[in-house]
Amino acid sequence: MNKQYDYIIAGAGCAGMSLLMRMVIDPFFASKKILVLDADDKQQNDRTWCFWETKPDLFESIVHHQWTKLDFYSNHYSSELSIDPYIYKMIRGLDFYNYVKTNASASPNIEWRKASVKKLVESSKFLDHSNKLRNNEIAGVELVDGEIIYAEYVFSSILFEPIKAAADEYHFLQHFKGWEIKAATDCFDSSKAVFMDFRVGQEQGTTFMYVLPTSANTALIEYTLFTEKLLADDDYNAALKKYIAEQLQINYYEILHEEKGVIPMTTKKFSYAKGRNIFIGIAGGQAKASSGYAFKFIQKRTTQLIEAIKKGKDLTYGKTMNDSKGHLYDAVLLHVLHHRKMPGDEIFAAIFKGNKASNVLAFLDNESSILTDLKIMSSVPTGIFLPAALKELL
Ligand SMILES: Cc1cc2nc3c(=O)[nH]c(=O)nc-3n(C[C@H](O)[C@H](O)[C@H](O)COP(=O)(O)OP(=O)(O)OC[C@H]3O[C@@H](n4cnc5c(N)ncnc54)[C@H](O)[C@@H]3O)c2cc1C
Repeated sequence: MNKQYDYIIAGAGCAGMSLLMRMVIDPFFASKKILVLDADDKQQNDRTWCFWETKPDLFESIVHHQWTKLDFYSNHYSSELSIDPYIYKMIRGLDFYNYVKTNASASPNIEWRKASVKKLVESSKFLDHSNKLRNNEIAGVELVDGEIIYAEYVFSSILFEPIKAAADEYHFLQHFKGWEIKAATDCFDSSKAVFMDFRVGQEQGTTFMYVLPTSANTALIEYTLFTEKLLADDDYNAALKKYIAEQLQINYYEILHEEKGVIPMTTKKFSYAKGRNIFIGIAGGQAKASSGYAFKFIQKRTTQLIEAIKKGKDLTYGKTMNDSKGHLYDAVLLHVLHHRKMPGDEIFAAIFKGNKASNVLAFLDNESSILTDLKIMSSVPTGIFLPAALKELL
């Protein structure tokens, strides 16, 4: 069998399109044959990404709104968070998909196919006894109609089956429903967003609201939970209605747009690759287990992949020391939540109360220094977190 493409991008969502966009702007890839596969034509505004960064990245021109100030609320501690040098940004899914498609359409070396992938072609059979890649190895995808397509590398963000954690791993779901509302009168300060408002019932587990104003009378409001089970749709609606009426005191509004999501928050160990099939996005473990944020981790991983491809380096290695440290902290937090040793709203309140918000954001990005980590760890009760940390470490 021969390769038909240099690269196949299987799944053109956040990770697939981020990788593609990085290929589009880099002359190194202009002569490479690239096939992009997705079962969907990506014409829906199916999600809104928020993330923080200190300098503009590839998608700056499609940032829909941004905030330099964030508020944090809970029954234990509330404050305006000073996030400088970070800026909190919002990108709408449809803007992102259209932007990448438009940019890629000028590249004759990129081919798009709307197709459902059944499985990745097992490249393990090409591995030699030491599990090392051989030079002649190729990767592939099998489509649902049976067609098999080969490439030098396949970058897949497709979750072929639900993520299952092992018995000794923690598995929470970050699930949410968001309403973009338009209030009858001006009621928002669009220069600041509510990062987390925990002043909602905590009976189900860690539960909070995001309020993301994009003008004086429009905002995306998201009811978000970190729990092991999803709620019925009516429960999300009831919580949103109650919060908008009672906390935001908005009585007249229309719902412009709705979105729902479920993001894994798991200590499951994801593989980065199998042979020349490289896993990216959530399928590659890029959702932060303690926060569910994935957008920036996907940008980091796709940047790293581009560099590795260009330098002919091993693409399977992607984990930095900081990532390993971050995974340990995530496991400790999920341990504490899973064993119900301290409620999530109290944990986040203690962290934001005891630390500069910008340090907390760096910590959540796996980019904080050891000194900052120690400070953050000392802001939560050591009697609870130290035994959890020792357990996870061992
Ligand atoms: C509603 C929502 C809001 C989110 N908000 C944020 C946020 O604010 N900040 C943040 O950091 N993270 C957020 N996330 C988490 C994360 O950033 C997103 O889930 C992100 O889209 C993950 O990227 P991905 O490429 O792994 O998956 P996706 O973007 O879901 O891409 C996977 C692609 O694979 C395609 N596909 C699936 N199966 C097949 C198949 N068999 N054959 C062919 N194609 C297939 C899908 O159509 C899809 O296009 C959010 C997630 C959701 C669901």
